[in-house]
Amino acid sequence: MSLPMAPMLRIAKHAITKTIKGDKFPLVLMLEPLLRCNLACPGCGKIDYPDAILNRRLSFQECMDAIEDCGAPAVSIAGGEPLLHREMAKIVKGYIERKKFVILCTNALLLKKKIAEYEPSPYFTWSIHLDGDKQMHDKAVDQDGTYDVALEAIKLAKEKGFRVQVNCTVFNDASPESLATFMDHMTSLGVEVTISPGYAYERAADQEHFLNREKTKNLFREFFARGNGAKNWKFTNSPLFLDFLAGNRSYECTPWSMPLRTVFGWQKPCYLVGEGYVETFAELMEGTDWEQYGVGKYEKCANCMVHCGFEGTAAREGIVRPLEFMKVAMKGVKTDGPMAPDIDLSKQRRAVDVHATQVEQELEKIRISDPEGYRRATRAA
Ligand code: SF4
Ligand code: SF4
Repeated sequence: MSLPMAPMLRIAKHAITKTIKGDKFPLVLMLEPLLRCNLACPGCGKIDYPDAILNRRLSFQECMDAIEDCGAPAVSIAGGEPLLHREMAKIVKGYIERKKFVILCTNALLLKKKIAEYEPSPYFTWSIHLDGDKQMHDKAVDQDGTYDVALEAIKLAKEKGFRVQVNCTVFNDASPESLATFMDHMTSLGVEVTISPGYAYERAADQEHFLNREKTKNLFREFFARGNGAKNWKFTNSPLFLDFLAGNRSYECTPWSMPLRTVFGWQKPCYLVGEGYVETFAELMEGTDWEQYGVGKYEKCANCMVHCGFEGTAAREGIVRPLEFMKVAMKGVKTDGPMAPDIDLSKQRRAVDVHATQVEQELEKIRISDPEGYRRATRAA
């Protein structure tokens, strides 16, 4: 991850100290301060809620408490669309004052209008949602013209002196050629890319275009082969995570490395799967039966290779086996030969459907805590 030196050293020190102690620790707080969005991407598993829930916001104080609670050195703010939150600039400033590295993930539709509320800082990065080239992205978000808006936003933010990266989710209709061309383009613009296969959210409208693990590995091999083992391009991902995507490493996920604080509370067990919510980070860590989750353990995890589950594993390997990290960083990702054995899925437990119960519980909480807001939202619906 090529961050500026000061935040990079803080994150490295945090990770090395905790790894040596053998602690379970978060690297990045995932924050969803609201679930409302101004797009409705078919592959999104985050926005399928009634209005009373979509109208909820985490307050400035709740956002600050979340980082104090978990102690992560960095925070990735997503949603929903964070720029719809009226206090977003204040929240970003609050984190920077605490010397936390902030990644603000946006679909960029509101960036031009809001950018004056933000200041460049080595602790702050705009992360623009761009799922490939114009054709791929506009299809993924189901709205023509969004690629052009995002590209304009990238250029504007860079002109104003901000750090900018792109977050790119890959689906099964992506071609290795177009991904390679997209990366060449991003490299020519001087922006790094955080890449990840999509997670097959059970609530996403489009269930047909998610990648399974075998397809993911073959696709990433073919893609990376077109860029000299991915060395031609700039990724924010760890080289070991890229090597994992290409099928060269058998990793188990590290779900607590990027824990999610959402409008419901801390999500059990991870950013991708919501099986329950608790009030505090300590409850999340101590009250989650981690052995119940992961590839080979739970049906909902079967196809997961997503960065927020596996970057933490890659980071840990980079610390305990630095030569492996150096080898891949220098030689690039291996794109041929046998793959590492995958995890056996035959003993995974069946998926449990918890969504409807959770929605009912959250609506009941809102009805009790904010009866007027609840009435307004249900009247409008
Ligand atoms: S993927 Fe992002 S931009 Fe698309 S609907 Fe979901 S939150 Fe909004
Ligand atoms: S494999 Fe791990 S990170 Fe992925 S959904 Fe399951 S618990 Fe979450």
